Amino acid sequence: MRYRSTRGQSSGLTFENAVLQGLAPDGGLYIPSEIPKVPFSKIAEWSNLKFTDLAYQVLRLFIDVNEIPNDDLKTIIEKSYSTFDDKDITPLNKLPNVTNDQLYVLELFHGPTFAFKDVALQFLGNLFEYFLIRKNKDKKQDEKQDGITVLGATSGDTGGAAIYGLRGKKNISVFILHPKGRVSNIQESQMTSVLDPNVFNVSVEGTFDDCQETVKALFSDAEFKNKYQLGAINSINWARILAQTVYYFYSYFTLLKKLNVAVNADTKPETLPKIQFVVPSGNFGDILAGYYAVRMGLPADRLCIATNENDILYRFMQTGSYEKKKVGPNEPEVKQTLSPAMDILISSNFERLIWYLVRGDGRVESTTATAADDEKASATIAEWMQQLKTSGGFTAPAEVLERAHTLFDSFNVTDEKTTETIGRYYHCKSSSYVLDPHTAVGVAAAEKMHAKNPVYTICLSTAHPGKFPEAVLPAINNYSGEKIASKEVVYEEIAPKALVNLLGRPKKCIDVKTDGGKKEIALKQVRLVIEETMKGF
Ligand SMILES: *Cc1c(COP(=O)(O)O)cnc(C)c1O
Repeated sequence: MRYRSTRGQSSGLTFENAVLQGLAPDGGLYIPSEIPKVPFSKIAEWSNLKFTDLAYQVLRLFIDVNEIPNDDLKTIIEKSYSTFDDKDITPLNKLPNVTNDQLYVLELFHGPTFAFKDVALQFLGNLFEYFLIRKNKDKKQDEKQDGITVLGATSGDTGGAAIYGLRGKKNISVFILHPKGRVSNIQESQMTSVLDPNVFNVSVEGTFDDCQETVKALFSDAEFKNKYQLGAINSINWARILAQTVYYFYSYFTLLKKLNVAVNADTKPETLPKIQFVVPSGNFGDILAGYYAVRMGLPADRLCIATNENDILYRFMQTGSYEKKKVGPNEPEVKQTLSPAMDILISSNFERLIWYLVRGDGRVESTTATAADDEKASATIAEWMQQLKTSGGFTAPAEVLERAHTLFDSFNVTDEKTTETIGRYYHCKSSSYVLDPHTAVGVAAAEKMHAKNPVYTICLSTAHPGKFPEAVLPAINNYSGEKIASKEVVYEEIAPKALVNLLGRPKKCIDVKTDGGKKEIALKQVRLVIEETMKGF
């Protein structure tokens, strides 16, 4: 398997190079040269595998054996998911019957930082380590070792998951920038309480965008990038998408088991109960993994993109126009909502889906597209992405939107609805379930999706509610409908012990002052922090 850029200027990369580079030099994202198609008789053989064995089967198709031998890949996978606190890794739970009894949540938050990003970043961290150990294997003791400096910016969840994925790893240093005072208390504690000598939190006076721009500027400085071997962990990294495809297969089979439906090599997929997925989306990485799963052969009925009020994806699905939200002159472009991990202006991974749609693929691959169509698609994508940059948007022709509609639906959800949904599921009399605000966006969309297409519906649950008490506690305590108890719910009741214990732990963080948010000072200071710190390595 080789990898190519969506924008057409680089191709033929190995898995290792695609993962280590992250972003392609032409600004595009890496995609596999083809998507392996697995016949259902073969997929059916996966139905009784445990999570890690299933992961091995799926990942093997995208990583050549001569790049990572079978046993090594198995070891990397086992190690990555040994840090999860549930034997199913991603358990599936039935939601209380509030509107109907076909809704399920796929809990993706059983990793070390209680967010779905752990599923991918635990794996990515171990991959980085594996590649480095191999590069350094034949080096003499006094020879300089190959290393990676991972540099990223976070508005909350990514930073923690990246730090937990990379802490303590040999020859890897991690610098995570966050905007000072603008990430939640819990998220800040989660990152800064990691004291491993290879982890450096940098709190920057300014906004998340300032942090992001600083990171981009350092990555585009070729000399700096080479000197420190900068590595990226953001959600455009192919390994992250790949790791996330696994739980679509896994949860599909888990649900069939719960429904007592047996699957074997002779099963015709069209005779099985229909199952659709709803995904709380931001950068489009999570749901894109679902698209790859379907293209591989997973017989999912529909994929539904749930957005909050930052709804560029929802608007695209309505109109075919992909446009940054137009807001008033004094309003910030990104609206701050109760589901901050989904507060985005544009969704970077959408570029990958659009490439397939332009090429002629929808739910299934085009039967007529040729290599020339691949190149044409890349040229179109490069042009649209340029338009997005210069004029804030682009419009896809009708047939592209139609192809999207062969598989995808979308709904947007307001903060008010998010809050109401958390309250309603908590105060359900038959059984109570605590939703985090991101999952609540998904569940609110899932209710609409189920009304439109009444089949079994799996909503991906992307964070533990204990990570977002500022949204969850008021939603429960100030619920306007009938309550199950009058007593006020407190943080300790909804949070796992590991999160409660975080607050008050010793912290390690480097403060960067920017004279009130000046970008050029931020860049200069962060560069200096990295240079000074790396002298010791
Ligand atoms: C990152 C994140 C999302 C959005 O996922 P994408 O892959 O960016 O679409 C949703 N919910 C939570 C809690 C997240 O951390």
